[in-house]
Amino acid sequence: MRRRLGLAITAAALAVVLPVTAAVADPRDDKSAVDDRVKELQQEFEGLDEDLARVIAERDAAQEKLPDAEAESKAADDALAEAIEKDEDMAARLTSATNAQKDLKDSIKSGTEEIDKHKTSAARIGRQAYQNSGITSDLAMLLQMAEGTSADGGIGRVDSAVRSQQRTIDKLSEQRALNKNNEERLSGVTEKISDLKDEAAEAVLAKEAAQVDAKKKADSLNDLISAKDDAEKTISDNKDKTEKQLADEKAEQDRLAKKVRDWEKEQEKKGSFVFGDGVLANPAEGYPTTSPFGYRIHPITGAKKLHTGMDFGVPCGTPIRAAGDGIVVTSGWNGGYGNRVVISHGKIKGNSIASTYNHNTKLKVHDGQKVKKSQVISYSGTTGASTGCHLHFEIMENGGYVDPKPFIF
Ligand SMILES: [Zn+2]
Repeated sequence: MRRRLGLAITAAALAVVLPVTAAVADPRDDKSAVDDRVKELQQEFEGLDEDLARVIAERDAAQEKLPDAEAESKAADDALAEAIEKDEDMAARLTSATNAQKDLKDSIKSGTEEIDKHKTSAARIGRQAYQNSGITSDLAMLLQMAEGTSADGGIGRVDSAVRSQQRTIDKLSEQRALNKNNEERLSGVTEKISDLKDEAAEAVLAKEAAQVDAKKKADSLNDLISAKDDAEKTISDNKDKTEKQLADEKAEQDRLAKKVRDWEKEQEKKGSFVFGDGVLANPAEGYPTTSPFGYRIHPITGAKKLHTGMDFGVPCGTPIRAAGDGIVVTSGWNGGYGNRVVISHGKIKGNSIASTYNHNTKLKVHDGQKVKKSQVISYSGTTGASTGCHLHFEIMENGGYVDPKPFIF
Protein backbone atom coordinates (compact mmCIF):
# COMPACT_ATOMS: atom_id res chain seq x y z
CA MET A 1 0.00 0.00 0.00
CA ARG A 2 2.70 2.43 1.03
CA ARG A 3 4.82 1.19 -1.79
CA ARG A 4 2.16 1.94 -4.39
CA LEU A 5 1.68 5.38 -2.91
CA GLY A 6 5.43 5.94 -3.20
CA LEU A 7 5.29 5.04 -6.86
CA ALA A 8 2.34 7.35 -7.35
CA ILE A 9 4.31 10.19 -5.76
CA THR A 10 7.29 9.42 -7.99
CA ALA A 11 5.05 9.52 -11.04
CA ALA A 12 3.53 12.77 -9.87
CA ALA A 13 7.02 14.05 -9.18
CA LEU A 14 8.09 13.09 -12.72
CA ALA A 15 5.07 14.92 -14.07
CA VAL A 16 6.02 18.10 -12.28
CA VAL A 17 9.61 17.68 -13.39
CA LEU A 18 8.52 18.46 -16.94
CA PRO A 19 7.86 22.18 -16.43
CA VAL A 20 11.05 22.28 -14.37
CA THR A 21 12.92 20.69 -17.29
CA ALA A 22 11.40 23.41 -19.44
CA ALA A 23 12.97 25.77 -16.95
CA VAL A 24 16.38 24.45 -18.13
CA ALA A 25 15.76 26.78 -21.10
CA ASP A 26 15.70 29.45 -18.44
CA PRO A 27 16.21 32.89 -20.10
CA ARG A 28 18.34 33.76 -17.07
CA ASP A 29 20.98 31.31 -18.37
CA ASP A 30 20.99 33.01 -21.78
CA LYS A 31 21.20 36.37 -20.09
CA SER A 32 24.09 35.33 -17.90
CA ALA A 33 25.99 34.09 -21.00
CA VAL A 34 25.38 37.46 -22.68
CA ASP A 35 26.35 39.25 -19.45
CA ASP A 36 29.67 37.40 -19.52
CA ARG A 37 30.25 38.32 -23.17
CA VAL A 38 29.43 41.97 -22.48
CA LYS A 39 31.89 41.95 -19.59
CA GLU A 40 34.60 40.39 -21.79
CA LEU A 41 33.95 42.86 -24.61
CA GLN A 42 33.99 45.73 -22.15
CA GLN A 43 37.40 44.59 -20.89
CA GLU A 44 38.64 44.15 -24.44
CA PHE A 45 37.36 47.59 -25.31
CA GLU A 46 39.11 49.13 -22.31
CA GLY A 47 42.31 47.27 -23.25
CA LEU A 48 42.12 48.67 -26.78
CA ASP A 49 41.51 52.12 -25.35
CA GLU A 50 44.69 51.81 -23.30
CA ASP A 51 46.64 50.52 -26.32
CA LEU A 52 45.38 53.43 -28.37
CA ALA A 53 46.34 55.99 -25.74
CA ARG A 54 49.82 54.47 -25.52
CA VAL A 55 50.34 54.43 -29.31
CA ILE A 56 49.15 58.03 -29.61
CA ALA A 57 51.50 59.11 -26.81
CA GLU A 58 54.42 57.35 -28.51
CA ARG A 59 53.54 58.89 -31.86
CA ASP A 60 53.26 62.37 -30.30
CA ALA A 61 56.63 61.93 -28.58
CA ALA A 62 58.23 61.05 -31.94
CA GLN A 63 56.40 63.92 -33.63
CA GLU A 64 57.78 66.31 -31.03
CA LYS A 65 61.35 65.20 -31.76
CA LEU A 66 60.88 65.44 -35.53
CA PRO A 67 61.38 69.22 -36.10
CA ASP A 68 64.77 69.16 -34.32
CA ALA A 69 65.83 66.07 -36.23
CA GLU A 70 64.76 67.59 -39.53
CA ALA A 71 66.51 70.88 -38.69
CA GLU A 72 69.66 68.88 -37.88
CA SER A 73 69.37 67.02 -41.15
CA LYS A 74 68.95 70.32 -43.02
CA ALA A 75 71.96 71.82 -41.19
CA ALA A 76 73.97 68.71 -42.12
CA ASP A 77 72.94 69.20 -45.78
CA ASP A 78 74.09 72.83 -45.63
CA ALA A 79 77.37 71.93 -43.92
CA LEU A 80 78.04 69.33 -46.60
CA ALA A 81 77.26 71.79 -49.41
CA GLU A 82 79.63 74.30 -47.81
CA ALA A 83 82.38 71.68 -47.47
CA ILE A 84 81.92 70.64 -51.10
CA GLU A 85 82.13 74.28 -52.22
CA LYS A 86 85.31 74.77 -50.23
CA ASP A 87 86.78 71.57 -51.63
CA GLU A 88 85.98 72.70 -55.20
CA ASP A 89 87.50 76.12 -54.50
CA MET A 90 90.67 74.45 -53.18
CA ALA A 91 90.77 72.17 -56.21
CA ALA A 92 90.54 75.21 -58.52
CA ARG A 93 93.28 77.02 -56.61
CA LEU A 94 95.48 73.95 -56.68
CA THR A 95 94.97 73.61 -60.45
CA SER A 96 95.87 77.22 -61.13
CA ALA A 97 98.91 77.07 -58.83
CA THR A 98 100.05 73.84 -60.48
CA ASN A 99 99.53 75.37 -63.94
CA ALA A 100 101.44 78.55 -62.99
CA GLN A 101 104.25 76.39 -61.64
CA LYS A 102 104.28 74.39 -64.83
CA ASP A 103 104.42 77.63 -66.88
CA LEU A 104 107.38 78.83 -64.81
CA LYS A 105 109.15 75.49 -65.23
CA ASP A 106 108.55 75.72 -68.99
CA SER A 107 109.94 79.26 -69.01
CA ILE A 108 113.00 78.16 -67.00
CA LYS A 109 113.58 75.30 -69.42
CA SER A 110 113.25 77.44 -72.53
CA GLY A 111 115.44 80.16 -70.86
CA THR A 112 118.13 77.53 -70.23
CA GLU A 113 117.93 76.37 -73.84
CA GLU A 114 118.17 79.96 -75.06
CA ILE A 115 121.20 80.57 -72.82
CA ASP A 116 122.83 77.38 -74.10
CA LYS A 117 122.14 78.48 -77.65
CA HIS A 118 123.76 81.86 -77.06
CA LYS A 119 126.69 80.23 -75.23
CA THR A 120 127.22 77.94 -78.23
CA SER A 121 127.07 80.89 -80.53
CA ALA A 122 129.64 82.83 -78.42
CA ALA A 123 131.89 79.81 -78.33
CA ARG A 124 131.67 79.40 -82.08
CA ILE A 125 132.56 83.08 -82.65
CA GLY A 126 135.50 82.67 -80.19
CA ARG A 127 136.76 79.54 -81.90
CA GLN A 128 136.73 81.24 -85.31
CA ALA A 129 138.71 84.15 -83.86
CA TYR A 130 141.16 81.69 -82.24
CA GLN A 131 141.66 79.85 -85.52
CA ASN A 132 142.43 83.20 -87.21
CA SER A 133 144.74 84.58 -84.45
CA GLY A 134 146.47 81.52 -83.00
CA ILE A 135 145.17 82.04 -79.45
CA THR A 136 145.85 78.77 -77.68
CA SER A 137 142.76 78.25 -75.60
CA ASP A 138 139.19 79.31 -75.05
CA LEU A 139 140.22 80.45 -71.57
CA ALA A 140 142.87 82.76 -72.88
CA MET A 141 140.46 84.11 -75.43
CA LEU A 142 137.84 84.79 -72.76
CA LEU A 143 140.44 86.51 -70.51
CA GLN A 144 141.42 88.72 -73.40
CA MET A 145 137.76 89.55 -73.96
CA ALA A 146 137.33 90.45 -70.28
CA GLU A 147 140.41 92.72 -70.28
CA GLY A 148 139.38 94.35 -73.57
CA THR A 149 142.72 93.42 -75.17
CA SER A 150 143.07 91.65 -78.47
CA ALA A 151 145.62 89.38 -80.09
CA ASP A 152 145.38 91.23 -83.34
CA GLY A 153 143.30 93.83 -85.22
CA GLY A 154 140.54 91.30 -85.97
CA ILE A 155 139.87 90.73 -82.26
CA GLY A 156 137.90 93.99 -81.87
CA ARG A 157 135.12 92.74 -84.11
CA VAL A 158 135.08 89.35 -82.45
CA ASP A 159 134.97 91.06 -79.08
CA SER A 160 131.93 93.13 -80.04
CA ALA A 161 129.99 90.05 -81.31
CA VAL A 162 130.89 87.99 -78.21
CA ARG A 163 129.91 90.88 -75.91
CA SER A 164 126.56 91.06 -77.63
CA GLN A 165 126.06 87.33 -77.01
CA GLN A 166 127.19 87.78 -73.42
CA ARG A 167 124.67 90.60 -72.78
CA THR A 168 121.90 88.38 -74.10
CA ILE A 169 123.10 85.50 -71.89
CA ASP A 170 123.15 87.83 -68.86
CA LYS A 171 119.64 89.07 -69.57
CA LEU A 172 118.37 85.51 -70.04
CA SER A 173 120.17 84.34 -66.89
CA GLU A 174 118.63 87.17 -64.88
CA GLN A 175 115.18 86.23 -66.13
CA ARG A 176 115.86 82.55 -65.48
CA ALA A 177 117.00 83.28 -61.92
CA LEU A 178 113.85 85.34 -61.35
CA ASN A 179 111.72 82.49 -62.73
CA LYS A 180 113.57 79.98 -60.53
CA ASN A 181 112.96 82.11 -57.48
CA ASN A 182 109.27 82.51 -58.34
CA GLU A 183 109.00 78.80 -59.06
CA GLU A 184 110.51 77.95 -55.66
CA ARG A 185 108.14 80.31 -53.85
CA LEU A 186 105.20 78.98 -55.84
CA SER A 187 106.20 75.41 -55.01
CA GLY A 188 105.75 76.21 -51.29
CA VAL A 189 102.40 77.83 -51.97
CA THR A 190 101.27 74.84 -54.05
CA GLU A 191 102.23 72.49 -51.25
CA LYS A 192 100.16 74.51 -48.77
CA ILE A 193 97.20 74.59 -51.14
CA SER A 194 97.55 70.84 -51.64
CA ASP A 195 97.39 70.32 -47.86
CA LEU A 196 94.31 72.56 -47.65
CA LYS A 197 92.76 70.60 -50.52
CA ASP A 198 93.34 67.35 -48.59
CA GLU A 199 91.75 68.89 -45.51
CA ALA A 200 88.78 70.06 -47.56
CA ALA A 201 88.33 66.57 -49.05
CA GLU A 202 88.43 65.06 -45.57
CA ALA A 203 85.89 67.62 -44.36
CA VAL A 204 83.61 66.62 -47.23
CA LEU A 205 83.79 62.97 -46.12
CA ALA A 206 83.08 63.91 -42.48
CA LYS A 207 80.15 66.13 -43.44
CA GLU A 208 78.83 63.40 -45.70
CA ALA A 209 78.87 60.91 -42.80
CA ALA A 210 77.19 63.47 -40.52
CA GLN A 211 74.57 64.15 -43.15
CA VAL A 212 73.85 60.42 -43.55
CA ASP A 213 73.47 60.07 -39.75
CA ALA A 214 71.20 63.11 -39.44
CA LYS A 215 69.07 61.95 -42.34
CA LYS A 216 68.86 58.45 -40.86
CA LYS A 217 67.69 59.92 -37.55
CA ALA A 218 64.97 62.01 -39.20
CA ASP A 219 63.98 59.08 -41.44
CA SER A 220 63.65 56.67 -38.52
CA LEU A 221 61.49 59.19 -36.66
CA ASN A 222 59.31 59.50 -39.73
CA ASP A 223 59.15 55.72 -40.01
CA LEU A 224 58.22 55.47 -36.33
CA ILE A 225 55.49 58.07 -36.73
CA SER A 226 54.09 56.30 -39.75
CA ALA A 227 54.19 52.91 -37.93
CA LYS A 228 52.36 54.46 -34.98
CA ASP A 229 49.84 55.98 -37.37
CA ASP A 230 49.23 52.53 -38.83
CA ALA A 231 48.91 51.01 -35.34
CA GLU A 232 46.52 53.77 -34.35
CA LYS A 233 44.38 53.03 -37.36
CA THR A 234 44.37 49.28 -36.69
CA ILE A 235 43.49 49.73 -33.03
CA SER A 236 40.84 52.32 -33.88
CA ASP A 237 39.31 49.91 -36.37
CA ASN A 238 39.35 47.14 -33.77
CA LYS A 239 37.89 49.51 -31.24
CA ASP A 240 35.09 50.44 -33.63
CA LYS A 241 34.41 46.78 -34.29
CA THR A 242 34.44 45.94 -30.58
CA GLU A 243 32.28 48.95 -29.82
CA LYS A 244 29.75 47.85 -32.38
CA GLN A 245 29.84 44.28 -31.09
CA LEU A 246 29.48 45.61 -27.57
CA ALA A 247 26.48 47.71 -28.59
CA ASP A 248 24.91 44.65 -30.21
CA GLU A 249 25.54 42.51 -27.15
CA LYS A 250 24.23 45.24 -24.86
CA ALA A 251 21.07 45.44 -26.92
CA GLU A 252 20.81 41.67 -26.61
CA GLN A 253 21.46 41.98 -22.87
CA ASP A 254 18.62 44.52 -22.57
CA ARG A 255 16.36 42.31 -24.64
CA LEU A 256 17.13 39.31 -22.43
CA ALA A 257 16.77 41.34 -19.25
CA LYS A 258 13.27 42.23 -20.35
CA LYS A 259 12.64 38.61 -21.24
CA VAL A 260 13.86 37.52 -17.80
CA ARG A 261 11.61 40.08 -16.07
CA ASP A 262 8.63 38.88 -18.10
CA TRP A 263 9.53 35.26 -17.39
CA GLU A 264 9.88 35.93 -13.67
CA LYS A 265 6.52 37.70 -13.58
CA GLU A 266 4.96 34.76 -15.37
CA GLN A 267 6.61 32.31 -12.99
CA GLU A 268 5.33 34.31 -10.04
CA LYS A 269 1.85 34.33 -11.56
CA LYS A 270 2.07 30.56 -11.94
CA GLY A 271 3.16 30.39 -8.32
CA SER A 272 6.53 28.89 -9.19
CA PHE A 273 8.32 31.61 -7.35
CA VAL A 274 6.18 32.08 -4.34
CA PHE A 275 5.72 28.61 -3.03
CA GLY A 276 2.94 27.67 -0.64
CA ASP A 277 1.97 30.03 2.16
CA GLY A 278 5.53 31.13 2.86
CA VAL A 279 5.49 29.56 6.31
CA LEU A 280 8.07 26.84 6.94
CA ALA A 281 7.57 23.78 9.07
CA ASN A 282 9.90 21.80 11.34
CA PRO A 283 11.69 19.15 9.17
CA ALA A 284 12.05 16.80 12.14
CA GLU A 285 8.87 17.42 14.11
CA GLY A 286 8.87 15.86 17.56
CA TYR A 287 12.67 15.55 17.87
CA PRO A 288 14.81 17.72 20.11
CA THR A 289 17.26 20.32 18.86
CA THR A 290 20.73 19.44 20.13
CA SER A 291 22.80 22.37 18.89
CA PRO A 292 21.62 25.87 17.91
CA PHE A 293 22.72 28.12 15.04
CA GLY A 294 25.49 30.58 15.86
CA TYR A 295 29.12 30.99 16.83
CA ARG A 296 30.51 28.41 19.15
CA ILE A 297 33.92 27.98 20.72
CA HIS A 298 35.68 24.75 19.96
CA PRO A 299 36.16 23.04 23.34
CA ILE A 300 39.79 22.09 22.59
CA THR A 301 41.23 24.58 20.06
CA GLY A 302 39.23 27.52 21.39
CA ALA A 303 38.62 28.60 17.79
CA LYS A 304 35.41 30.53 17.14
CA LYS A 305 33.39 28.93 14.36
CA LEU A 306 29.94 29.56 12.93
CA HIS A 307 27.54 26.66 13.26
CA THR A 308 25.66 27.32 10.07
CA GLY A 309 22.48 25.48 11.00
CA MET A 310 20.68 23.76 13.85
CA ASP A 311 21.02 20.11 14.76
CA PHE A 312 18.14 17.77 15.52
CA GLY A 313 18.74 14.65 17.54
CA VAL A 314 17.08 12.13 15.27
CA PRO A 315 17.85 8.39 15.25
CA CYS A 316 19.34 6.89 12.12
CA GLY A 317 16.78 6.38 9.31
CA THR A 318 14.23 8.94 10.57
CA PRO A 319 12.15 10.42 7.71
CA ILE A 320 13.14 14.03 7.05
CA ARG A 321 10.46 16.35 5.66
CA ALA A 322 10.62 19.40 3.40
CA ALA A 323 10.20 22.57 5.47
CA GLY A 324 8.00 24.10 2.76
CA ASP A 325 6.88 23.98 -0.84
CA GLY A 326 9.68 24.43 -3.36
CA ILE A 327 12.01 23.05 -5.97
CA VAL A 328 14.94 20.75 -5.23
CA VAL A 329 18.06 22.65 -6.25
CA THR A 330 20.46 19.79 -5.53
CA SER A 331 20.16 16.32 -4.11
CA GLY A 332 23.35 14.30 -3.78
CA TRP A 333 26.75 13.91 -2.17
CA ASN A 334 28.36 17.12 -0.97
CA GLY A 335 31.63 16.55 0.89
CA GLY A 336 31.40 17.30 4.64
CA TYR A 337 27.64 17.68 4.32
CA GLY A 338 27.38 14.06 3.27
CA ASN A 339 24.16 13.29 1.38
CA ARG A 340 22.55 16.68 1.10
CA VAL A 341 19.25 18.10 -0.17
CA VAL A 342 18.84 21.80 -0.98
CA ILE A 343 15.33 23.11 -1.59
CA SER A 344 14.53 26.58 -2.93
CA HIS A 345 11.35 28.03 -1.48
CA GLY A 346 11.34 31.05 -3.80
CA LYS A 347 10.64 34.39 -2.17
CA ILE A 348 9.39 34.69 1.36
CA LYS A 349 8.78 38.27 2.55
CA GLY A 350 10.86 39.53 -0.36
CA ASN A 351 13.93 37.35 0.37
CA SER A 352 15.10 34.28 -1.51
CA ILE A 353 14.88 31.41 0.96
CA ALA A 354 16.35 27.94 0.65
CA SER A 355 16.62 25.10 3.17
CA THR A 356 19.25 22.34 3.40
CA TYR A 357 19.17 18.88 4.98
CA ASN A 358 22.48 17.15 5.68
CA HIS A 359 24.24 13.90 6.70
CA ASN A 360 21.33 11.81 5.31
CA THR A 361 21.69 8.11 4.81
CA LYS A 362 19.26 8.05 1.91
CA LEU A 363 17.84 10.68 -0.48
CA LYS A 364 14.29 10.54 -1.79
CA VAL A 365 14.23 13.48 -4.23
CA HIS A 366 16.27 14.59 -7.25
CA ASP A 367 17.42 17.86 -8.78
CA GLY A 368 14.64 19.99 -10.24
CA GLN A 369 11.87 18.13 -8.43
CA LYS A 370 8.95 20.10 -7.05
CA VAL A 371 8.21 19.25 -3.44
CA LYS A 372 5.39 20.04 -1.04
CA LYS A 373 5.68 21.05 2.58
CA SER A 374 6.25 18.03 4.90
CA GLN A 375 6.96 15.71 2.00
CA VAL A 376 9.59 13.12 2.97
CA ILE A 377 12.73 14.02 1.09
CA SER A 378 15.35 11.85 2.84
CA TYR A 379 16.21 9.57 5.78
CA SER A 380 18.58 10.77 8.45
CA GLY A 381 22.09 9.40 8.84
CA THR A 382 25.68 10.30 9.69
CA THR A 383 27.30 10.70 6.27
CA GLY A 384 30.03 13.33 5.65
CA ALA A 385 31.68 15.10 8.60
CA SER A 386 29.45 13.72 11.31
CA THR A 387 30.07 11.72 14.49
CA GLY A 388 26.60 10.23 14.84
CA CYS A 389 23.14 10.20 13.29
CA HIS A 390 21.52 13.65 13.37
CA LEU A 391 19.96 16.22 11.04
CA HIS A 392 21.98 19.34 10.36
CA PHE A 393 19.31 21.75 9.05
CA GLU A 394 20.13 25.12 7.47
CA ILE A 395 18.24 28.11 6.11
CA MET A 396 19.84 30.31 3.45
CA GLU A 397 18.47 33.80 3.07
CA ASN A 398 19.58 35.48 -0.18
CA GLY A 399 22.50 33.05 -0.32
CA GLY A 400 23.73 33.50 3.30
CA TYR A 401 23.23 31.26 6.32
CA VAL A 402 20.80 32.55 8.93
CA ASP A 403 19.28 31.11 12.10
CA PRO A 404 16.54 28.64 11.04
CA LYS A 405 14.77 28.89 14.39
CA PRO A 406 12.52 31.91 13.62
CA PHE A 407 11.46 30.25 10.34
CA ILE A 408 10.24 26.97 11.82
CA PHE A 409 9.13 27.79 15.39
ZN1 LIG B 1 25.00 20.89 12.77
